Amino acid sequence: MPYSHSVLNTLCALFTSCAALLLHTGLSHAAGSAEPRYTDGHLHTVDFFQQGAPLSALLSAMDESAVGNAMVAGIPLMKKWHEDEPKRPDTYAGDDARVYWFSATDAYLAQALQTLPPEQRRRLHPFMSGFNPTDKNADLHLQRMIELYPGLWQGIGEVITRHDDLTALTDGDTARANSEAMFRVYRFAARHRLPVLLHSNITSKRERNPLYAGEVESALAKFPEVNFIWAHAGTSATLHRFQGKMDFLLPTISRMLDAYPNLYIDLSWTVLRPYLLDGNDQPEGDWVALVSRYPSRFVIGSDLLGKYDKLGEKLSAFAAFLQALPADVEAQVARSNFLALLPPHGACPEREGHCTANP
Ligand SMILES: [Zn+2]
Repeated sequence: MPYSHSVLNTLCALFTSCAALLLHTGLSHAAGSAEPRYTDGHLHTVDFFQQGAPLSALLSAMDESAVGNAMVAGIPLMKKWHEDEPKRPDTYAGDDARVYWFSATDAYLAQALQTLPPEQRRRLHPFMSGFNPTDKNADLHLQRMIELYPGLWQGIGEVITRHDDLTALTDGDTARANSEAMFRVYRFAARHRLPVLLHSNITSKRERNPLYAGEVESALAKFPEVNFIWAHAGTSATLHRFQGKMDFLLPTISRMLDAYPNLYIDLSWTVLRPYLLDGNDQPEGDWVALVSRYPSRFVIGSDLLGKYDKLGEKLSAFAAFLQALPADVEAQVARSNFLALLPPHGACPEREGHCTANP
């Protein structure tokens, strides 16, 4: 039907029962609706203590929130509960204890997925993340994971490189997107046609310029065959606190989308405000124009950490922005762009060719 959401909302205001109208046009948002409205392109099944609700809870939340499919990943970092701390912190920023790289996160996820029946597993798209991005052994972990779970993995990430306070708390060297260790990871991604979800802040807390964008650019330029999803478009909540709205963000993202066809942008929560929506929760015209100019290059996600009760709230927060896009672009960003980035089958050890043991 050629009705936009805004037209329908106006019509709904005129009718006492708009449920039938929305149902008729296939745009019902009702809980458990057969027509999924969203794909969640960025979701963690555990928190920074490697704890999370069972995947059955995630699937229930997806059904209630009209989410058809979701990317799922662990978290590559573990927050230490330090001897000196009487209380386990709630987040990685809860105290000054360090965080460290934690590989078992991938095995936890793989095991949890294997408890699900195939029709449920097909809705979840697992990414590997449990490696230290400053270690040139990182690709050995990826290889081991696809040998242990052939056909399961559909992407790599969220790789955490530049991430303000989290980086400062992380044991060892500072990770960056253009290290030799990460180049080895990208070569692995290219061999298995896996997309890479990369968290690399565009700058530091204090520098009002795209200080670290060059690191992402050099990865994009060196590996044109690898599709990169830039998490949160390089933003973070901490950057917002220190910098406010970064006026260089949109021109930098725009230039890079033009220069690198393998760049995709994750719009999840720290992009939503203050970039996609203004202070009155109205869509920002320059971002509507940018997304409309590159309709296949943007994805959305919840970035939840092992708790799923806010899934519907997180994704419906995009509605005002999505409804400002042309209808076909809205459908791409809300649902299909992320799915189009996935490989035709999960990653397999080379000797097994196209293993199809897992759906
Ligand atoms: Zn994340």
